[in-house]
Amino acid sequence: MQVNTAKNLDMDNCLLDGLNPEQREAVVTLDRTLLVLSGAGTGKTKVLTTKIAYMIENGYAFPSQILAVTFSNRAAMEMKERLSAMVTGTESVWLGTFHSICAKILRSNADLIGLSNSFTVIDTGDQQKLVGQILKELNIDKKIANSVVTAISRWKDKCMCPNDPRIDAKSIDGRVYALYQERIFSYDSVDFGDLLMYVIRIFKENSHILQKYRDKFKYILVDEYQDTNMTQYMWLRMLSPNGSGLCCVGDDDQAIYSWRGAEVGNILRFEKDFLNTKIVRLERNYRSGGHILGAASSLIAHNENRLGKTIWTDGNNGEKLLIQRAYNGFDEAKIVAEKIELLHLKSVKFGEMAILVRAGFQTREFEERLIAYGIPYKVVGNLKFYDRQEIKDLIAYMRLIYQPNDSLAFERVVNVPKRGIGAAVMAKLHARSAERNISLFQSAKEMLENNEFRPTVMESLSTFVKFIESLGKRNDLSPAVMAKIILDETGYLSILTNERTVESQTREENLKELLRALEDFEDLATFIEHVSLVTDARKNSGDDVVSLMTLHSAKGLEFDAVFLAGWEEGVFPHNMSLQEGNLEEERRLAYVGLTRAKKYAFITYAMNRKVYNQWQANLPSRFLSELSPEHVVHQKSKAEKYYN
Ligand code: ATP
Ligand code: MG
Repeated sequence: MQVNTAKNLDMDNCLLDGLNPEQREAVVTLDRTLLVLSGAGTGKTKVLTTKIAYMIENGYAFPSQILAVTFSNRAAMEMKERLSAMVTGTESVWLGTFHSICAKILRSNADLIGLSNSFTVIDTGDQQKLVGQILKELNIDKKIANSVVTAISRWKDKCMCPNDPRIDAKSIDGRVYALYQERIFSYDSVDFGDLLMYVIRIFKENSHILQKYRDKFKYILVDEYQDTNMTQYMWLRMLSPNGSGLCCVGDDDQAIYSWRGAEVGNILRFEKDFLNTKIVRLERNYRSGGHILGAASSLIAHNENRLGKTIWTDGNNGEKLLIQRAYNGFDEAKIVAEKIELLHLKSVKFGEMAILVRAGFQTREFEERLIAYGIPYKVVGNLKFYDRQEIKDLIAYMRLIYQPNDSLAFERVVNVPKRGIGAAVMAKLHARSAERNISLFQSAKEMLENNEFRPTVMESLSTFVKFIESLGKRNDLSPAVMAKIILDETGYLSILTNERTVESQTREENLKELLRALEDFEDLATFIEHVSLVTDARKNSGDDVVSLMTLHSAKGLEFDAVFLAGWEEGVFPHNMSLQEGNLEEERRLAYVGLTRAKKYAFITYAMNRKVYNQWQANLPSRFLSELSPEHVVHQKSKAEKYYN
């Protein structure tokens, strides 16, 4: 272990330079369990990073004795970069998400639960496939696969095994869970939930292993603690039963993942769980101007269920929060794109601007506008609109109708939704297509005529072919109407509607948004050409690009300018959250969004949105009226006036 030398003490001072007294206290407190509980932008993450550097630099711990947990891989990467700029040797700090750290522990101990150390980690798509197979074997409709996957994930968030008494073993979800767990294990695979649960099991069953990790990790630091779930809590508690060496930072006002099993109770209960806790509150916000912060604070004050905090800035009020009403979604995207251009002229970098939306479907209108204006952008944490599975599926149908010899499109949708056209049938079609140098569609027609398949395949394939051909003849249909027919008659939409998961809801919203977009096109050819142009235009964008993302994925980040779009009742707060009585979490999401802004924050809302074929008048979001008027400017005139 290093000793404190004069040089190190110098470094010590260096690292602490510029921190305020409370931050400094949080960094140097090492002998007690520490909770830093404070509002957005007060330097929680900075404290965490500095603390790691401080411990290493002053010899309190070797890098390999420090475990730091971040919320996303991206946050982990950023923290690594910052750390390596402060001290050397940081590569051996265990820094990552709960999942990546548990994967590492599990790889070293996999034999203890009968997995090989080269086990695979499966993603949601694989989970859905596996659950689908099990449902099929049980003779249950596969349509519910996604909702079963969600149920299983929520159980795993609570560390509940299939034999947990709280699970009804006779229910469909319970039965599938048990089979799923056996199956995935026999494949030498684990899902994300397993990563934590298996490690917990290894710790429980092998006290010497647990002890080894307890001895190893002298200090454990956790960012965004308000969004940990029960399993993560149990895992931390095992590694640090009395909280020694534990430092957690978070903000109850930024708890936004309850729908994914996070429990804000973990942070609220912290002091009771760890008796030797010292709580540090940071009150000075270094990120935002006074008006932005004032507006955000006035909004979050409407939540009843919160601890409440003081938060202030150094007196520089900066720009007021600008709220602008748009006529419709198109107009909204135009207003935002124009403001981005204006700010760019005022030398704000594209990379310092972000458009934050509540739901993924909202990105489309912005993507098209940004492309039209030649503004470089990236969609963060989520696929670009036209890259999403459901959008590609629907477009593939339309391409196939327009041009039946488009074999890529044929291959994409011939069995979507599932209609019993499996790999064997596809192999035959491919063979025929190669042999006769014809398209897959032509091969299908030929083989149907010659009766070359078994009866069930004959039936479903010929229904598919007829469906595509009949729509191909309907020149009278607009692309929007045609798309609606595809979604209805193939059952694509009803399958999603019946799933009732957050994911299926998102997909449904995306499809509806595509239907809306299609209304701007009179014929299929123009639309298909438009899509290929849009898809092509997005290539080759460098680093200095506008970020387009959901509010959820903006957590922890900051930008000079933040555009918050779609502040309308039903969009934000989102309908589903209103129905589920989760308004306070929506408000926290609004607070997270606003507090990402350093200098400029803009909110837009549209008076009208087109949903399906109908214009719908939207009410402004209730959150707008909750912003304290002194920090806000309402703008109805043209965007440029504000800056000129
Ligand atoms: P969030 O709740 O959004 O995660 P946070 O509390 O983690 O925010 P940080 O991201 O650590 O806040 O800090 C916000 C900004 O303030 C960063 O740009 C950071 O560099 C800056 N900052 C924090 N503390 C100081 C300080 N003492 N002096 C100058 N800048 C600071
Ligand atoms: Mg942070």
